[in-house]
Amino acid sequence: MYDLIIVGGGPSGSAAGRLAGKMGLETLLIEKETFPRYKACGGGLSEHAMSYLDHEIPDNIQERDIYGAKLYYKDMMIEGYKDHRLSILVTRSVLDNYLLDMARDVGIEVHTNEKVTDLTELNDHVEVHTDNTIYRSKFVIIAEGSQGTLKNKVRRKDRKDEYGVCMVTEVKENNETIEERLHNAIELHFGGIGQGYGWIFPHRGYYSVGVGGIVKYAHNPKTIMLDLLKSNGFQGDYKLHGHTIPSGGVKRDLVGSRIVLCGDSAGFVDTFTGEGMTYAIRSGQIAVEVIQGILSSDQHSGSLSRYSSRCQSEFGEHLRYSRLFTKIMYTYPDVTFRIFTGQKEIFDKFLDVVAFKITYKDFLKWLLFNFRFRWLKG
Ligand SMILES: Cc1cc2nc3c(=O)[nH]c(=O)nc-3n(C[C@H](O)[C@H](O)[C@H](O)COP(=O)(O)OP(=O)(O)OC[C@H]3O[C@@H](n4cnc5c(N)ncnc54)[C@H](O)[C@@H]3O)c2cc1C
Repeated sequence: MYDLIIVGGGPSGSAAGRLAGKMGLETLLIEKETFPRYKACGGGLSEHAMSYLDHEIPDNIQERDIYGAKLYYKDMMIEGYKDHRLSILVTRSVLDNYLLDMARDVGIEVHTNEKVTDLTELNDHVEVHTDNTIYRSKFVIIAEGSQGTLKNKVRRKDRKDEYGVCMVTEVKENNETIEERLHNAIELHFGGIGQGYGWIFPHRGYYSVGVGGIVKYAHNPKTIMLDLLKSNGFQGDYKLHGHTIPSGGVKRDLVGSRIVLCGDSAGFVDTFTGEGMTYAIRSGQIAVEVIQGILSSDQHSGSLSRYSSRCQSEFGEHLRYSRLFTKIMYTYPDVTFRIFTGQKEIFDKFLDVVAFKITYKDFLKWLLFNFRFRWLKG
């Protein structure tokens, strides 16, 4: 009987595993792939995400420092930079492999190439069925990402306006050309895909190029992706990867009596930016803190609900406002993006949201307070 079984070895599962090992919980992490494995992602790891790690990211994994962004909407463009780093760019297969190693390092058991096929919540433990055997554990964390279906043991399936669809590819390029084009900024293209954007991120030796938008509005993502590639002069025969991404800020059930959902399984992604690694890491850690609290005090398993309230108070409101902000931006995009790209002060302030120095709520209040008279005057 384990104290904890973690399903999935992405950033959320690994962060949970590392903390569980450090806290002395008898832990098994089960990952269906053999690592390193490909993960569809832009690879932006924010300072905010890194602030939750108890270790540095090695230099050889950090491919580029990002200080700013270039934002395009139709014929408009704005760029902004901060004097502090906003994020680093990483290749997910490499990062995730490293994070999983950091979980192994604290002594937890890790099984890769083993898939969890089913879970049964019983009175005093959970039965975890894999394609290999059956395990028993007092608690289970589901960190299976956005495409798994085990999470539906706890919560209903998302509707089409509650998750997004992405297409991404890696475009090889020499570092000098990448440096010349983007240096330490990312490029964001709005107005192509419904309720989302296209991106070009400057990695080491390649660009991550992709599009993503909310499923209900993001029609023909492949055509839009091919347009983005072509209009930026990328003309190879690229392998396109499709992947879903949750929209955060939707009210979802997060816990059963002995099961907790973390990361993408819980739907913790910033709807406007698509940033998910921060919340994946942090929610994995919160889940372990709550489970450890229960195990050490013999409380009733019902107190798992503390997990939901802690996530809510740490970042729930932020994700809710990111969803609201997304709705505002895309209801009258010509007006909102014109305001956004037309005023450097606004874009600059928005980068403070990206840096998590202020919240979406603060940003919206600031906008209303500072600009309503100007806009009312026309
Ligand atoms: C195209 C795209 C671009 C993105 N860009 C960014 C970005 O630039 N920055 C950012 O912060 N976020 C980005 N995100 C979001 C980010 O990728 C996710 O939020 C993050 O990966 C969530 O981590 P996770 O650990 O919850 O899930 P995942 O990283 O998806 O990991 C889940 C793991 O569980 C394993 N698994 C699944 N089912 C089972 C099973 N049944 N048994 C065992 N193992 C299983 C999978 O193999 C996988 O390794 C992007 C997402 C997409 C789709």
